[in-house]
Order: sequence, then structure tokens, then C-alpha cells
Amino acid sequence: MNLDITQCAQCGLKLFPARYFCPACGCNAWTRCVAGSGTVMESTVVRHRAGEQEAHAVHLATVRTSEGPVVIARLDGPVPDGTSVRLEIDDMHRIIARAL
Ligand SMILES: [Zn+2]
Repeated sequence: MNLDITQCAQCGLKLFPARYFCPACGCNAWTRCVAGSGTVMESTVVRHRAGEQEAHAVHLATVRTSEGPVVIARLDGPVPDGTSVRLEIDDMHRIIARAL
């Protein structure tokens, strides 16, 4: 699925996640645009340990989308800051970033 960004129909502000009212102008009419790509601003790794099982690493990144809003996305693995990524939503409604 595509990562949809909402845009205020009155003042043009782009937001993610969506809100009921625009924080800039109070309007409640929205259009949608697709943020298909972005740039990694910063990334980190979170390690979960369950008993003696092998640690499971989750790579997370702060991504500036092509449309402007910043989102937190999952990565397949570590990438340097500034990496260009493709953005999409997976079956569990998580934002996934893949290096281009
Ligand atoms: Zn607005």
C-alpha cells in the first residue's frame, strides 16, 4: 500500500498522520497525496531479547518524506543517514523503508 499524506484543501499544509482539523488554519477539508520516497535523517536499532533466544534486531529510521512530513519507518537493515528510500505500508500497517 502507498503511504498517504493528507494536505489541507485551504492552506496546503501537509500532515502525517491525518487530523480532523488543520492546525494552521482550522479547515477540515483534505486532499491526499502519496509519499512514495524519502530520505533517512537518522536511524537506530532496537534489540528484543526473549529468554536465551537469539536477539532480534529491528532497524528504525526517521525519514523525511518526499512530501515533507517526517515519519518513523522500519528498515531491512542498517543504512547511512542521507540514504534515499522507497516508502510503503505493509500488511500490518507499518511504514517500510527500502534503500533505493
Ligand atoms: Zn490549513
